[in-house]
Amino acid sequence: MVFFVYRHLGLARCNIGYMKQILRLLIILPLLIWVACEDEKSSNSDDDTLYEYELHSNNRVSSLLMSESEYSNWVSNDGFSDGSIRLPLINDVYNKFPDKYDFIFFVLNEPFIPSSLFYYGKLIGVSNNVQGIGSNSYDYTSDYGSSGKLKAVMQLTGLEYLKYGPALHELAHQWANYALPTHSVDNVGSNLTSYPYWGHWGYTGGSTKGQLGGFKQSSLIENGDNSYTVDSFGPFANGGNGIPFNELELYLMGMLPISSVTPFDMFTDITSLAVDTLTFDFTLTATRTTYTPQSLENLLGERVPSIGSSQKDFKLLVVVITDTPLSDDEWNKVDATAEWFSKKGDDGTYLYNFWEATNGVGSITIEN
Ligand SMILES: [Zn+2]
Repeated sequence: MVFFVYRHLGLARCNIGYMKQILRLLIILPLLIWVACEDEKSSNSDDDTLYEYELHSNNRVSSLLMSESEYSNWVSNDGFSDGSIRLPLINDVYNKFPDKYDFIFFVLNEPFIPSSLFYYGKLIGVSNNVQGIGSNSYDYTSDYGSSGKLKAVMQLTGLEYLKYGPALHELAHQWANYALPTHSVDNVGSNLTSYPYWGHWGYTGGSTKGQLGGFKQSSLIENGDNSYTVDSFGPFANGGNGIPFNELELYLMGMLPISSVTPFDMFTDITSLAVDTLTFDFTLTATRTTYTPQSLENLLGERVPSIGSSQKDFKLLVVVITDTPLSDDEWNKVDATAEWFSKKGDDGTYLYNFWEATNGVGSITIEN
């Protein structure tokens, strides 16, 4: 509607210019028409963009067409992680799309992760105004061309990684883990020195194994002398979209009250680690810190906004970055992942879409 009005005004200005020309020098007429047409052209968002965009007919996913050399540079030199390349590109996205998205996800038009990139997914924070999660408030939205709405940008390095890759994990990073001073170790053995492991749960328990790592608290066995055994787990991840968010993650995301977070342990200063060759159980010697809802709130302060008013529905823009227009097969594949991830219901498979991973409390809308 706004676009239409702008175009209409442009035409009106053109008519006034034309009337003046009739009354004045006919020789300037072609020039004025040219200026007016340029003006009208500049109000057309398609022609205002650096890149060519295509919007898929199902109104979920879009594509951004780069030249072969630009795409090669984006993939080979990880343009997404380079602010001097990422920021102009996202500003260009806002020349095409409205500023209504909480997250922008770029998806590479690659069947698998390119060998030049070392991540399946990456989230870069743009703004945070949630208090009580251990993160400062920050707002870089204006650098990206957003007026405060954009929370983060993500890149997924394969065409179907929204479904099979680490989309839930990366989203969790928007809110977690700034909360706990976790530790990890790189090897098994004794006489180990663990190191701070910010960003992931490391050797921390949870109601279930976490999207950001950590073991299942209910599997903990106390061996005595600061020795503990837990079921097999990953310190930074536990199987992509194959697991839901755990209670602590849901609390930090604003999807669960703190009173519903079951007490759990965090292990730091890990001095020994053994992994059972048959069961893959972990046995470690470490310092144990138990967190309860009360001690969590003492540490982090109250979450603002609280569960009653926290945002639970998020809008995503999904843009495939490519150097060739997408084939029907590629469109179908990526559109199916977007439909799946944003489905507000049980998908009937072992995988968790966002709605399932949040126990039906949170939802995502993907629209272009
Ligand atoms: Zn991570």
